[in-house]
Amino acid sequence: MENQTWHTLSPEETLEKLQTTTSGLSAEDIAARREKYGPNELEEKAGKNPLIMLWEQFTQTMVLILLAAALISGFLGKEIETIAILAIVVLFAVLGFVQEFRAEKAMAALKKMSVPTVRVRRAGQVQEIAAPELVPGDILLLEAGNIVPADLRLLESANLRVQEAALTGEAEAVEKITEALNIPDLPLGDRKNMAYLGTNVTYGRGIGIVTGTGMNTELGKIATMLQEVKNQETPLQKRLDRLGKMLALIGAGAASLMMGIGVLLGESLEEMFLTAISLAVAVVPEGLPAVVTITLAIGAKRMLKRNALIRKLPAVETLGSVTVICSDKTGTLTENRMTATTLKLPDQHVELEELKEKNGHSETVKMALCIGAWCNDASITFGPENEEFTIIGDPTEGALLVAAARAGLQCHLDTLPRVSEYPFDSERKRMSTVHRLPDNTTETFFEFWRGKDFMSFTKGAVDSLLQISSHIWVNEKPEQLTQTWQEEIQQANEALASEGVRVLGLAYKTLSALPEKPEDELEQDLIFVGMIGMTDPPRTAVKPAIAECRNAGIRPIMITGDHPLTASAIARELGISENVNAVTGETLLKLTDEELRETVKEISVFARVSPEDKLRIIAALQQNGEVVAMTGDGVNDAPALKKANIGVAMGITGTDVAKEASDMVLMDDNFATIVAAVEEGRVIYDNLIRFIKFSLGGNLGKVLVMLAAPLLGIHIALKPLQLLWLNLLTDGLMGLGLGTEPSEKLTMEKPPRHPEQPVLTGPDLRYVLWSGLLIGIISLVTGYWYYNPANPDDHTWQTMIFATIGFTQIGNAFGLRAHVSSPFTFKTNPLFLILTFITVGLQLLAIYFPPLQKIFGLVPLSIQQLGISFGLGIVLFVANRLEKMLRK
Ligand code: ATP
Repeated sequence: MENQTWHTLSPEETLEKLQTTTSGLSAEDIAARREKYGPNELEEKAGKNPLIMLWEQFTQTMVLILLAAALISGFLGKEIETIAILAIVVLFAVLGFVQEFRAEKAMAALKKMSVPTVRVRRAGQVQEIAAPELVPGDILLLEAGNIVPADLRLLESANLRVQEAALTGEAEAVEKITEALNIPDLPLGDRKNMAYLGTNVTYGRGIGIVTGTGMNTELGKIATMLQEVKNQETPLQKRLDRLGKMLALIGAGAASLMMGIGVLLGESLEEMFLTAISLAVAVVPEGLPAVVTITLAIGAKRMLKRNALIRKLPAVETLGSVTVICSDKTGTLTENRMTATTLKLPDQHVELEELKEKNGHSETVKMALCIGAWCNDASITFGPENEEFTIIGDPTEGALLVAAARAGLQCHLDTLPRVSEYPFDSERKRMSTVHRLPDNTTETFFEFWRGKDFMSFTKGAVDSLLQISSHIWVNEKPEQLTQTWQEEIQQANEALASEGVRVLGLAYKTLSALPEKPEDELEQDLIFVGMIGMTDPPRTAVKPAIAECRNAGIRPIMITGDHPLTASAIARELGISENVNAVTGETLLKLTDEELRETVKEISVFARVSPEDKLRIIAALQQNGEVVAMTGDGVNDAPALKKANIGVAMGITGTDVAKEASDMVLMDDNFATIVAAVEEGRVIYDNLIRFIKFSLGGNLGKVLVMLAAPLLGIHIALKPLQLLWLNLLTDGLMGLGLGTEPSEKLTMEKPPRHPEQPVLTGPDLRYVLWSGLLIGIISLVTGYWYYNPANPDDHTWQTMIFATIGFTQIGNAFGLRAHVSSPFTFKTNPLFLILTFITVGLQLLAIYFPPLQKIFGLVPLSIQQLGISFGLGIVLFVANRLEKMLRK
């Protein structure tokens, strides 16, 4: 659509120009427009070009060194070596490429999953579709929390406010209108009857007609800027990169040393050059970057299986060091399956369960239940038998509809149409609706209202209602709300709340005219009618998850908009903390930042908090050195989600804005899923450390063999090709097997890892040292045992070194496995078994398959010799077990 002055057209002109009506496009129109305009997507350069990815593999330092080695061998006329090294280069490159490609694919798939759904009216029906399906002319329904999915000309705005910072840089939300604006070149920020792709609806509702999609939007025009976003490297990746560089230096040092020794001993320069290069290659764990990427990506996949959708790859790693999980209560810790149980009126107490059997409730009961049903955005539909029903909308509101229906009340909106409203928000903790009163009605409680034109009903947190009420409904008439009444109601409220019940207050007022500004006129001088208590059972999986979480040294904290006593009761039931005393948002306001830092150390339940309080709580926790995961669902939660180390959005009830700001989305809104994701995060980290310990130990062993051999009179212990082969096998195959180990019992029994902790801790380094020494010494001594200078053409000694290094590495890998039951269970990680077979098979092939033998310069070993080197492999495994026992 080339017209950029949509804002100058009236709604009717816009509809006409886009050849549609307010009931939406027909199926044929949609198909034709889809064909013409393509999907509603910004063209992303997201995925790296596979060719570039492949090219990058060949430009890695190690591969370059190998290529140089191949070139030099070529010049020296060693064809076999040249071909073999080239083959290894290709193998490395392909391995690296495949892994990176798979990781990229996996992330792309995850990104696809977070495509938002939107509500449109098509052929007269409201439907939910994926945002990319939108076409120009679609009639789109907007509500608070949506990210505007295309450019729109607004047809309807009910207090619609849109924050357009993404486009205009202006942080203040803009109040939207529908009237045409007559200045064609108005700046975007002033086109108040338009809503643009990528901006956030912060308040109200609206309907718009799609004027532009995909690259044909205002955002599309500047999208090239947004596409440059690079895949972030995780802190671990950065630290490993540094480790890799350091090892490359060490490798270069070892290589020069090796070359010096060899040349001094009279070996030829060419021979030594190749050996030195191979040694350098042996020091560096080439597989590392690829293993890290693939392990993180596999981790993200595993998390998805457990209902946690990762939106930013670094989150996988950060999850492993989370120390505090701040969670909402309703829907995350509890089921959000609200059932109204109690009606508490100033002059009577009614158990709703009993109510449905009795007929003829008092007028006040009817009035209270109907206020709950009228001041309501949810809807209820009954099945054929009128027994079962489905609720659409907020469960709290649904519970009120069910309560009225169960009591046999027909509080239909047809008799009392809603004409205005002041929507719910979590700051006010209440909502109000205005209704036109009918002239004639059968309900007697209307008697009190007869003669008035409009009614306003308000429901919300009891404390917040009492503040704006002046009267109370007692004995079927309003009475002054005295201090005594205030206290009495507060007490009744607290009695209910301390049982873990959510309490909503109900109030009304009469109006003689339709309010012009609902937000100024509705919520004052109300008549308080009563309160209704509803239960919301804790989710079954949550209690054990909280116990697991605390066991793992992670503090769960409840942050809720609900009453402090309700919050404390649920917190006690779930075992959140020994101290379940709640601190309220009101108290938080009075604390200085210093005091808050102390408070968050003690307090695990925060009630009646606003989204701003959440931000302060996170900041205080982070200043105390905590790594914070924080859940959120509303528009106002976005800043807190961004500030948290791991922002967690709700997949089912969360808004687009919250999801967009998050690092991870809970597909099932369940707290237990966060704990599961933390566990996966820890497993991934543990596996990477396993891999690093394993490959560094092995590399140290090989370097030792090479450098110490001359002391025993052996000039070159292993040939370049033998070294490369071992490196490929050990680094690549067995290492990959370790990367997919499952969670072990210990995973969630140790405290979280400190985020600043070095990659390898003291014990890890000691492990690398002793295992490397052992591998080196065992292999070298074995080789020396078979070494006979009198018979230089018998390469049995060298083959023994080759075989022994291989087997000790396999033994080491077994020792490093996760302790689920025994190191020989493979159910938990079948890949490990497969890779072990492949590694052993290839090793035997190199020793016994004549063509390979020739290339590698190996000789066939006798059964006895093979048995010896196999047995020496077991030594490493046994040593690993001994070390574990000693450390215990
Ligand atoms: P959490 O933050 O744990 O999800 P919450 O869902 O109770 O808690 P809010 O949705 O902000 O938090 O609700 C805060 C308070 O507002 C509730 O305790 C209740 O008193 C009131 N409230 C909730 N929903 C409504 C509603 N639909 N209409 C009127 N008042 C409501």
